[in-house]
Amino acid sequence: MRIEILGSAAGGGFPQWNCNCRNCRSLRTGAFASKSRTQTQVAVSNGGRSWFLINASPDLRTQIERTPALWPREAVRDSPIAAVLLTSADIDQIAGLLSLRELQPFRIYCTRSLRRILQEDNSVFGMLNRVPEQVSWMDVKLAESFPLLAKIGDEPKIRCEVFSLGNKYPVYVSPTRAAELKSEEALLGATLTSSSGKRFAYMPAVPAINDRLLQLLETADLVLFDGTFWSDDELVRVQGSGATAREMGHVPVSGSEGSLRALAGLRHPRKVFVHVNNTNPMLDESGPEYREIRAAGWELAEDGWTLDL
Ligand SMILES: [Zn+2]
Repeated sequence: MRIEILGSAAGGGFPQWNCNCRNCRSLRTGAFASKSRTQTQVAVSNGGRSWFLINASPDLRTQIERTPALWPREAVRDSPIAAVLLTSADIDQIAGLLSLRELQPFRIYCTRSLRRILQEDNSVFGMLNRVPEQVSWMDVKLAESFPLLAKIGDEPKIRCEVFSLGNKYPVYVSPTRAAELKSEEALLGATLTSSSGKRFAYMPAVPAINDRLLQLLETADLVLFDGTFWSDDELVRVQGSGATAREMGHVPVSGSEGSLRALAGLRHPRKVFVHVNNTNPMLDESGPEYREIRAAGWELAEDGWTLDL
């Protein structure tokens, strides 16, 4: 199973267009040992013929063009991208669907709750179904394993399972609508298992870490985990106001209850932080925060990385 990291930053990217924080300013002026990053996006394949996107970032068009494996191969209109798996209705995870609207057939795997938000409340996504043979919506259920397929009859090479990580829908979903949806389908994590049994766990947004999650992570060979914020009050300190990391649904990396400490006991998986916000000090590769995560056995994802399992 091959995993391409097409983007590794949180919403806004790095640098973010309207951000003049120390990190963004230093990256723009070159006074910084770091790399620019697009918004988090992953593509997965087992064998390289069909590719499956996990979510669809606002930077998707650029990310596809930077990745030859995702270029058209045969017909005048063609794509090796067979399907998109959605783990939340966040704008950062769905906006890229609008860049896939050129009448190309593919599948969208998501829960019924997410499908209702996209299909019933946001008519712009109707562009994905202008013609009958365009997008097929595949309902998935929590904790029920299903194969990721390009089409019916294909040999399943990757099996997927999604599980609940949180119960808050994005702010653009009205309270009335949110009350009609299953709260446990608001924010998902996913495991993808190859035909050879290798397992990849993907969770770019994790509001809290519990024993069940730790047990699941220990069964994975590779974990791409929420690296959004270094500290709980990071945005408040940078902006002077705003929400804490936990209020935004992200357990911070540092601190007594942060992910670095909570996941320190994991022995088996390769551990990689993704979805890194531009304010996070661990982006400075000459700084103590970056040294701390590296010493703890973590890697910091960069755009363009290829990970093989
Ligand atoms: Zn910034």
